[in-house]
Amino acid sequence: MPPDVRKASGFPGEASNFCLRLRLEILEAQPPKLVKNSSRKGVAFPHIGWRSRYADVYDSRFSIYDRTTMLIVMKADATDAQIAHVCDVITELGFKPHAMPGATRTAIGVTGNQGAVDPTRFENLPGVADAIRVSKPYKLISLDLRPEKTIVRVGDATIGGDELAIIAGPCAIESHAQAFAVAEAVRRSGARFFRGGAFKPRTSPYAFQGLGEEGLKILAEVREIYGLKIVTEALDEASVDLVERYGDMIQIGARNMQNFSLLRRVGRSKLPVLLKRGLSATLDEWLLAAEYIMSEGNYNVVLCERGVRTFAQHTRNTLDLASIPAVRRVSHLPVVVDPSHGTGKNYMVIPLACAGVAVGADGLIVEVHDQPDKALSDGAQALTPEQYDQLIQEVRPIHEVVAPQPVV
Ligand code: PEP
Ligand code: MN
Repeated sequence: MPPDVRKASGFPGEASNFCLRLRLEILEAQPPKLVKNSSRKGVAFPHIGWRSRYADVYDSRFSIYDRTTMLIVMKADATDAQIAHVCDVITELGFKPHAMPGATRTAIGVTGNQGAVDPTRFENLPGVADAIRVSKPYKLISLDLRPEKTIVRVGDATIGGDELAIIAGPCAIESHAQAFAVAEAVRRSGARFFRGGAFKPRTSPYAFQGLGEEGLKILAEVREIYGLKIVTEALDEASVDLVERYGDMIQIGARNMQNFSLLRRVGRSKLPVLLKRGLSATLDEWLLAAEYIMSEGNYNVVLCERGVRTFAQHTRNTLDLASIPAVRRVSHLPVVVDPSHGTGKNYMVIPLACAGVAVGADGLIVEVHDQPDKALSDGAQALTPEQYDQLIQEVRPIHEVVAPQPVV
């Protein structure tokens, strides 16, 4: 671990400080191993391990799950004879093997079994990387389908790749001057994405609802002048048409996560989609919402953890950072963290942004306002441009520490 990384990351908050320290201690105690010639490229953390990747993320409240489906993942360098041997063992057990060669490895599905198949029967066979039970409702979001992580491309910017994706901007576009003042700071920071709502899903019908198409036109100017990619929310099917005309990425808000006709509509869009987690959505509900979009043919979906409603009164929502590794365990989709809605409090945004990056988020979506006290929505959680600069300085070194190293 380069010592200067630690020095560079001076944390303001206890939470983030603790989080990075813990991570560093774990890394020092059990250094990551580079995985060569494996179907799982990247860094293996010994304290986590690859085994049982799926078994512990199911939501037992759902009866739609068929836990009896088994998938055996072969190592990238498994030989034809090793694959044939695993198929023979499956046949001997009275089941049917389905060998499916992929880009980097072969997976073997098992059918014909009435109950669960014991994975330990396969785990130690030569050439086997993993034996896992597959949850049936997930098809397209699943690592079974795509073991490599998805990199969502938005023009020449990416989410899910090596770069930490930063999406920053005001909650709502309020005026030309406001949007440009914030865009200036966002551009200066090296971020590639600008956020800002033109259609706002407000709890009260009497609150500011956004500038509508006028707001989208301001966003289009921001793109033109600052070269930033525009991420903006569509509230309904009609607003998707408009966002497609002016924006680069469609945001589906927490309140619309289970608006299935809207999900299907953006599933037919050519623009990538940022799918926020619903206010009380389980992991499965969130992933199945992504499945709706992908089932229509749009595979460019980025998940966004933005906190869920709990009994807590010290925050607006409870930012569920455990969802990041939980998503990673089952899905190839990138995940970003929203510490603004996730906390609702200005002073918590930087520490929770740091924590989000420390647990492996692919990026952040953060609200910034040039005059938070005058904001027409979500002023209490908005960072000033100066605070935003500080956030960027703090999260970048953390990302360098936790980002997977390239396989050599
Ligand atoms: C927003 O991004 O401003 C917003 C309304 O977010 P959410 O849907 O997560 O509440
Ligand atoms: Mn907001």
